[in-house]
Amino acid sequence: LTAPGAPFAIATVPIRGVPTRIWEKAPPTLRDLFRIARGHGEKTFVVYQDERVTFTGFARAATTLARALVEAGLRKGDRVAIAQRNLPEWPVSYFGALLAGAIATPLNAWWTGPELAYGLQHSGARVLIADGERFARLAPHLGECPALERVLTTRMEPDPRATPLAEIVGPVRDWAALPDLPLPDIALDPEDDATLFYTSGTTGKPKGAVGTHRAAATTVMAYPYSAARSALRRGESPPKPDPSAPQRAALLVIPLFHVTGCHASLGAALYGGHRLVMMHRWDANAALDLIEREGCTSAGGVPTIAWQLATAAREAGRLLPSLEGVTYGGAPAAGDLVRTLGEALPKVVPGTGWGMTETSATFTHHQGEDYLAHPESCGPPLPVCEVRIVDPLGDVLPPGAVGELCVKGPNVVRGYWDDPTATAEALSEGWLRTGDLARADDEGFLTIVDRIKDMLIRGGENIYCCEVENALYAHPDVIDAVVLPVPHPTLGEEPGAIVVLAEGSSADASEIRAFAAARLAAFKVPVRIVIRDELLPRNPAGKILRAPLRAVFAGVSDQ
Ligand code: ATP
Ligand code: MG
Repeated sequence: LTAPGAPFAIATVPIRGVPTRIWEKAPPTLRDLFRIARGHGEKTFVVYQDERVTFTGFARAATTLARALVEAGLRKGDRVAIAQRNLPEWPVSYFGALLAGAIATPLNAWWTGPELAYGLQHSGARVLIADGERFARLAPHLGECPALERVLTTRMEPDPRATPLAEIVGPVRDWAALPDLPLPDIALDPEDDATLFYTSGTTGKPKGAVGTHRAAATTVMAYPYSAARSALRRGESPPKPDPSAPQRAALLVIPLFHVTGCHASLGAALYGGHRLVMMHRWDANAALDLIEREGCTSAGGVPTIAWQLATAAREAGRLLPSLEGVTYGGAPAAGDLVRTLGEALPKVVPGTGWGMTETSATFTHHQGEDYLAHPESCGPPLPVCEVRIVDPLGDVLPPGAVGELCVKGPNVVRGYWDDPTATAEALSEGWLRTGDLARADDEGFLTIVDRIKDMLIRGGENIYCCEVENALYAHPDVIDAVVLPVPHPTLGEEPGAIVVLAEGSSADASEIRAFAAARLAAFKVPVRIVIRDELLPRNPAGKILRAPLRAVFAGVSDQ
C-alpha cells in the first residue's frame, strides 16, 4: 500500500508466486473454456430432476446449435437472448450463442412479459431462446421487438411462432447421440464482446453490462486462486487436482442469468469438470435432500440462502457429510452468519466474496481461516485486480478510511450497452466506480460498508444502513431487517427499521430498540421500528427491494 494521495493498489496479496502461476492457466476466451469442458467427456455435467447430461452431450448440443445459428445467418456480435430458468438447456443456449460469435444476452427469468420485451428491444437481439414459461409471458409482446427474427423454444407445447430447440439440438435425453461436429470457424479474440448481462436493478432500471471473453474467462480462476492462497497462508502447499478423486458436485441455487451463477458457478464446473446440480426452485429442505442424494461438495448463493440452509440443517440435525464448502456473496451478510454456519455444519469451510455484474462476478474472495480471522470482510481482491478507495472528489484515501470503492482489472466489463453516458459516468481509464462504500485494511482485506445510495445522512452524520441492520440481526429473534430513512424536518433524515421476527417471538419494538441501543451510537439507533409478519421482498439476486419499503416511513416524522 502506498501513501495517501498516490493511487493505492492492492494488486497482489502477500503470497508470492500464486497469482501469476494460477492465472497463466486462465482460458483466453470462452471457446477455450468450452474446449476444456468438452474434454471432461462422459462425466456427468448437469443433473436436473431425473435428467443427467454428460459433458459430451452438452458439448455436442452447443456445437450443433452454434452451427445452426451460423447457417441461419447470425453474424459476429449479434445478440442472442436467453430467457430460461436454470435448465440443462441454459448452458447449451449460452455456448451455442458464444461459439457462433454472438453476444450471449441472458435475461432475468423473473421478469414480466414487458420487462423481458424491454431486454429484447434494448439489446436488439436477433434470436431468442426461451423456455415455455418465458415464451408464454413474452408472446403478446413479440411484435414490439423489431430486431427479433427467430425464436427457439424449449420445455413447452409446440407453438407455430417458434422452432423447438429440440428440433435443432435433439431432445434432452438424446444429447449424447448427437454427431460430433467441428466448431464453427469464427475468429474470436479475448477482447471481443461475449456477454451482455443485466444488473439486478437494485438502485433503478437494470443496466446492460457488456463483457469481453477475457473478462468472463478470468472469473473461472477465482476459486482455485482463493483456495491456493488460503493453503499458502496456512503454510501448506496449494491443493493439486487429483484425477482419482471423486467428481466434485455443486448445488446450483443462483440463477444462471446472473453473472455469479454463470461465470463463477457454471464457469468453475466447466473448468474443473464438476457436476452442477440444478434446483427447480429454492427450498431449504429439498436442498438438504439433493445435497445428500448427489453427494454435493459445495453449495452457495446469497447470504439468505446460506442462512436458510444452515438453519434447516441444524433443525433437522443433518450434518451433510459430503459438503465441504459453502460460499456466499452478492449482498451484505448478516453479522453472525458465519457463526450460525459453523454451529450447524462444523466441517464446512465458509467462503464469501464481493462482486458485481460489472466485474463479471467474483472480484474479492476469501474462505476458511482467512474469513474467520476477518469475519466482516468480503476478502482481498483477486491478484489480477486493483482497488482504490476514493473520497467524493475522487482523491485516493488511505487504508482504514471509508470511501467509494473503485476497481480495475481484466474482469471489469467494457461498458453499458448502447449507453455512452452511463459508461462514461462509471468508467474512466479502466477504473470502474462501483457505487459501494468500503474500507481496506493494511493487508488488502476489504469491508463493504454500504451502498452510497443506501447511506443515510442524519444532520451531517453518515449512517451506514448495513451496520444498523447487522446490529438488529444480532438479536436472536430477528430473521430479516432493513433500515430506511425517516424524514426529519431539521436533521434531514433519521434511521427507521422494519424487522421480521422468528415465529413465536415475544419481542416487541421497544425491546429491539433497546437491543440496538446497547450496540450502536445513539444517533444510529432506529427512531422507529416496525414489526412485519412476512419476509421482506427481495429481487432474484436476493437483495431487499428497498423502493417499495421506503413508503413505510415516507412522510412519517417524529416532530
Ligand atoms: P443495479 O446496479 O442495477 O442497481 P445491483 O448493483 O444490485 O443492481 P448486481 O451487479 O447484481 O446489481 O450487484 C452488485 C452489488 O451487490 C454491489 O455493487 C454491492 O452493492 C452488492 N454486493 C455484492 N457483494 C456484496 C457483499 N459481499 N457485501 C455487500 N454487498 C455486496
Ligand atoms: Mg450495481
